[in-house]
Amino acid sequence: MKIKRIKEILIGSTKFKMKWDKSCCSGAFSFGDDKEKAFIAIGVKGINEEYEFDVLLHELSEIIHVVCHHRYQGTDCEDNYQFIMDHRAHTIHSTLLSAAIMKFIY
Ligand SMILES: [Zn+2]
Repeated sequence: MKIKRIKEILIGSTKFKMKWDKSCCSGAFSFGDDKEKAFIAIGVKGINEEYEFDVLLHELSEIIHVVCHHRYQGTDCEDNYQFIMDHRAHTIHSTLLSAAIMKFIY
């Protein structure tokens, strides 16, 4: 498998700039604010393609959960989100994720 390092991707109505970050090995995303446009950051420092794909899939999936309003802030701690959906919503999520991930595969 070869991951295509595209420059931007449209998810929902937001265009995300792709940042392939050679300084770290984790993922992050933002829907943007008045200082910075929306981005997806994928850390690629010293990682193999399987792990890079894992990080990419995690961020794309989570963005789609946010777009579909499945992701909620947990009450126990700040970075432990809860994802709530039924199977119909999961099917829509999977379809959107499939469309997104296809942009990164040769
Ligand atoms: Zn996450």
